[in-house]
Amino acid sequence: MNAIRYLLQLAIYAGIFNSGKVIFGLLRMHWRYFLFGRGRGLIKFLPLATPLKVHIDPASSCNFRCFFCPQVNPQSLKEAGFKFTSMSLEHYRGIIDGFKAFPDKVQELMVGNYGEPLLNPQVGEMIAYAKESGTVREVTLITNASLLKGERLEKLAKSGVDKVRISIEALSDEGYYETTKVHQSFEEIVSNLIAFKRSVRKYGKKTFIYVKIVDTGMTDEDRRKFFRTFVPIADAVAIENLVGITAKAREIIGSNPKGMTGVSLAKERRICPSPFYSLSIHSNGDVAVCCVDWHRKTTVGSVQQESIKSIWDGQALNAFRRNQVLKSWRGVDACKGCELVKHYPMYEDLDAHGNKLNALLEK
Ligand code: SF4
Repeated sequence: MNAIRYLLQLAIYAGIFNSGKVIFGLLRMHWRYFLFGRGRGLIKFLPLATPLKVHIDPASSCNFRCFFCPQVNPQSLKEAGFKFTSMSLEHYRGIIDGFKAFPDKVQELMVGNYGEPLLNPQVGEMIAYAKESGTVREVTLITNASLLKGERLEKLAKSGVDKVRISIEALSDEGYYETTKVHQSFEEIVSNLIAFKRSVRKYGKKTFIYVKIVDTGMTDEDRRKFFRTFVPIADAVAIENLVGITAKAREIIGSNPKGMTGVSLAKERRICPSPFYSLSIHSNGDVAVCCVDWHRKTTVGSVQQESIKSIWDGQALNAFRRNQVLKSWRGVDACKGCELVKHYPMYEDLDAHGNKLNALLEK
């Protein structure tokens, strides 16, 4: 029932009334998640010997300065200890090789987290390596598509990447400048996507293309333009809501926050589900519990010093999980003021399972 409610909310938000293709695309994108994944209820899968999801950042800086993103102020991030680095291919391969120590495949490797991954020219090779390693079930790339061209595009199309999540920042050249403070042609972004789709077909791959835009004040005409432009190119499209990770974003959201993908926000949440199923690897090898840890407070190890498996099974991460259960996320210093925790969907809710989690963590 929860799964049907979720899909319906998602589909309505994505524009069910705009195109049958949209809903079909969303079903294609999520079916495995509901049949075999966390959509059946995260608690059923715990404890996990292998993380279900790993985020990895090939490059931590971004070529855009979107006004709602912490990247808008790189200086303050540097002062907070955020490191702007690029990951070498050798270092990355070592991390993927480390996945072999897990008994199962990582279900989803998300390439790109804090920065724009295509700033690293070796992303195509990185994804191909993960695909060939047999250690991950699905690889997703997150990109703003501005550098999706030339050699990078060809290598990526050939790599067999399973999904590409494209973030559209505006629907005109002026809009791009207003949002990103960079002169970026909108038509170029559209041509990059068309060229990418053509290359994916040329190499006989089946990459799923998801295109989304964040609503920071779209008009009806903007919505129509978004769907008109991207429905013919993408496999699924959506207009997402802003998450209040910066003061500017919170100001835009005001007193009526909505779920990122249109799914209702949890009214209350005590336990953050994230540390129980995912990890986030920064471009310098630091491993964090959380994928929105811009201020580097949830670091639990570094793959430069120990294996990814020993970090997943290690004391620092277990202490973090235990604190979630005992004190709730509100009592964990690293999580103070978190705006993401209520966005985790209802089937990842662990609040009713504190006793079971406690028993699992004691083992
Ligand atoms: S509560 Fe927020 S900051 Fe803490 S781990 Fe969860 S998502 Fe990250």
